[in-house]
Amino acid sequence: MKEKNQRDSMTRNEARTSYEETISKSWKVLWKQNVNQKLKVFMWKSLHGALPVRELIFNRTKQGNPMCAGCGEREETIEHMMFQCKKAKEIWKMAPVQWEGLEHLTGCFMKWWSAILEAQESRGEAVQVNVTINILWQIWKARNEREFNQKEREPHKAIEKAQKEWREFEEANKGMEPRKITQETEVQ
Ligand SMILES: [Zn+2]
Repeated sequence: MKEKNQRDSMTRNEARTSYEETISKSWKVLWKQNVNQKLKVFMWKSLHGALPVRELIFNRTKQGNPMCAGCGEREETIEHMMFQCKKAKEIWKMAPVQWEGLEHLTGCFMKWWSAILEAQESRGEAVQVNVTINILWQIWKARNEREFNQKEREPHKAIEKAQKEWREFEEANKGMEPRKITQETEVQ
């Protein structure tokens, strides 16, 4: 019995450690990612369930409407807003980056993001990841435009903006961050 308890608590500790490791690793990689600071903060909030989507606000304050304003069909969680809503799907359909085979992970943003980071590590897809962060940001911006200004952004406009902002940031920071990442990869 005692042994079993020890084993159980060990499994629990291991599970917790691995989750904490995932979070800590996601954060480290995110920090090094060659994207604007505001996008890092946005990603950090999303990964920690702190992005103020309707469901979150409703659960905290018991006020407002938890339903998504984009489709009116589901509660607006972070995952719904980013992937599952038809409004998000319209944007993803036009995206230059497609993460095929990860659709089953879109119910948990942290899992989806971890899988993307693994792809980046194994295949060196830093550019695709940076563009992806920009797309997520534009999905959020389009959502806010709808939420606060009652305006609909066309999906292709969101993609154009994501690519433009990514390119501008790359241009402005040429030769800085990527070099650091390469060095670290070589050390490993
Ligand atoms: Zn929706």
